[in-house]
Amino acid sequence: MVPAGVISHTGVAGLTLGGGMGWASRRYGLTIDSLLGAEIVTAAGDVVWASATSEPELFWGIRGGGGNFGVVTRFKFGMHPLGSIVVGQWSYPAANMRQALLALRDRAHGQPRDFTLNFTATATGLSVTAVWSGDAALTHAVLSPFGALTDGGIGSVDKLPYLSLQSRNDEHFAWSRRYYCKGGFWSEITDEVIDAIMLAIADAPTPDSEINVLQLGGAVSDVPDEATAYTGRGASYYWIAEPVWDVAADDDRCIAWGRITGKSLSKLSMAGNYVNEQADAGTVVALDAYGPEKYQRLASLKTRFDPHNMFRLNQNIAPLA
Ligand SMILES: Cc1cc2nc3c(=O)[nH]c(=O)nc-3n(C[C@H](O)[C@H](O)[C@H](O)COP(=O)(O)OP(=O)(O)OC[C@H]3O[C@@H](n4cnc5c(N)ncnc54)[C@H](O)[C@@H]3O)c2cc1C
Repeated sequence: MVPAGVISHTGVAGLTLGGGMGWASRRYGLTIDSLLGAEIVTAAGDVVWASATSEPELFWGIRGGGGNFGVVTRFKFGMHPLGSIVVGQWSYPAANMRQALLALRDRAHGQPRDFTLNFTATATGLSVTAVWSGDAALTHAVLSPFGALTDGGIGSVDKLPYLSLQSRNDEHFAWSRRYYCKGGFWSEITDEVIDAIMLAIADAPTPDSEINVLQLGGAVSDVPDEATAYTGRGASYYWIAEPVWDVAADDDRCIAWGRITGKSLSKLSMAGNYVNEQADAGTVVALDAYGPEKYQRLASLKTRFDPHNMFRLNQNIAPLA
């Protein structure tokens, strides 16, 4: 397998070019960490192969720089072994959410990279998913504590094929629904972070609107931040504030909640960001995400491969004047 996102209908090209975070990232890294090379059609119409040995600067840029440099027509990935995994899934009532989050952050701390935690806060409660792909003899000891964070946890521990886990929320995030998202990185889940989650989620505009948090670290942090354009390797968690709704009449209030929540969680976040899950696009978003040094390097690359900014419907890196 190659690590990818947590929804199976996400396209491989956009996901990879932004970085690609998911269930297997703590064990095997981002999607780009398995990328061996890519074929790219540039703005000039040239077909270029980018890899560690062929156009290495372009290869650096497409691992996190998004669709700024051309159209990728082929990817070559290295694969990893992954058999069945064991997945614990529990839900906790809203009244116990704070206590559950406090216990969860302590229990997640220091876990090996065979373990990945994800949690989703909604107005009605907290759902917690803990995934174990390590030594079968340790499964119970590692996963069970996440089913007993507080009273009121309901759920189970099951052996699942990886694809079943990856596609379990496909319907929830179906193509026909309406979304807004804003994300960021946390180095840890502080008391202030928990307060901000509790405050925001109490005001969620629809039952499906959520704050979702994916544990990172492990293999993601093995790669130095400067080795790829993706920025945020030092983070322990990635959060996303995501209103989900179905009718246009709710657009304004749902997007407003997403923006307000995104702003409050961003204040508690690390510098740098993931370009793929920011619904508001543009050069400012890209500059904030990469930081000035990387942005400058990306801008030089952009100037070489797309001097007239043909590929601009993205988190745009403006060519140098
Ligand atoms: C429901 C949902 C769940 C998600 N979950 C995750 C997750 O778990 N982990 C994660 O890392 N991300 C996740 N994402 C974010 C995802 O990585 C981005 O939305 C990504 O852009 C999707 O790729 P796509 O090919 O489907 O994009 P598209 O919508 O087709 O394209 C988005 C942009 O990607 C670029 N692009 C796409 N194809 C090419 C190409 N062939 N060549 C060059 N540029 C291209 C272009 O700039 C394009 O504008 C999720 C998104 C959604 C909607």
